[in-house]
Amino acid sequence: RVVSAAPTSPNEEAIERALRPKGLTDYVGQAKAREQLEIFIRAARKRGEALDHVLLFGPPGLGKTTLSHIIAHELGVNLRQTSGPVLEKPKDLAALLTNLERNDVLFIDEIHRLSPVVEEILYPALEDYQIDIMIGEGPAARSIKLDLQPFTLVGATTRAGMLTNPLRDRFGIVARLEFYTAEELARIVTRSAGLLKAPIDAQGAMEVARRSRGTPRIANRLLRRVRDYAEVKADGRIDKLIADKALAMLDVDPQGFDVMDRKLLEAVIHKFDGGPVGLDNLAAAIGEERETIEDVIEPYLIQQGYLQRTPRGRIATLAAYRHLGLAPPRRAEGELF
Ligand code: ADP
Repeated sequence: RVVSAAPTSPNEEAIERALRPKGLTDYVGQAKAREQLEIFIRAARKRGEALDHVLLFGPPGLGKTTLSHIIAHELGVNLRQTSGPVLEKPKDLAALLTNLERNDVLFIDEIHRLSPVVEEILYPALEDYQIDIMIGEGPAARSIKLDLQPFTLVGATTRAGMLTNPLRDRFGIVARLEFYTAEELARIVTRSAGLLKAPIDAQGAMEVARRSRGTPRIANRLLRRVRDYAEVKADGRIDKLIADKALAMLDVDPQGFDVMDRKLLEAVIHKFDGGPVGLDNLAAAIGEERETIEDVIEPYLIQQGYLQRTPRGRIATLAAYRHLGLAPPRRAEGELF
């Protein structure tokens, strides 16, 4: 898989951990989320209270996990980490919650994938720092209330719209992470190159940044591939030319689109006359899951203005035709374009 924005191997996860900024001041970009959090964290610390529950949403690789670690670090508390699909039974969550120390952070990734029974026990935990658990079995079973330490839940999801309303309502702080600008990504690439001891100049960093789909995880991943290329094909130094050659070899085009991006745009144009095409038809045409299209591939194409989402389906824009070197279709008056 070329496009995946999720970590793909244990090795990659280890490298990601090493590249993760530790404090809020090292966290590049996301000015709005950072400013809000800075104030709320300072206030919570001053009062010695738990920070309000935080919901982070946005496409994969934009820094949700990183930010949750930073929140715990800045609060000076422990972080416990889990994810929606891992918490199968209420007792899995109960075990985590009862082990939290005062004002700790509990990070639940993919929180939209919590099962309803697990979500149910989360509500009183979030509201009153209490949980109801069942003791014993059969006729002797009874429910008891347990008090928890005050804590902060940090939930992460790719789309806020996938959360149930009662869950979403329980977050006091909601931050949407945005795609990064090329300048912001260049700062991240330069910092990562320093940590990886890979010599890179400003134009080299900018080239990797421009072609990273606005996503730090992709920027860091491309940087490592470009470093391999520079070490094997040249003297290890990364400049614009080396970056450009390496990225072309990786099928990342000058706009930063990869194989899947182009496959999607080409399908909309060639198989569905430019659209509108519904998500299921599009998924079948390119052999991808609809979730992958919605969460990973199309947000960036939409943000960049190559694809539009309309009530009747996805439409390729003029920019998409131009990018693929195709003549745009003639359309009747009143239609799009
Ligand atoms: P998510 O949880 O949203 O999928 P992560 O927090 O795992 O994304 O981020 C992926 C990688 O990108 C991390 O290894 C981290 O090094 C890098 N990263 C993300 N956001 C930033 C940022 N704002 N500044 C610097 N590096 C970042």
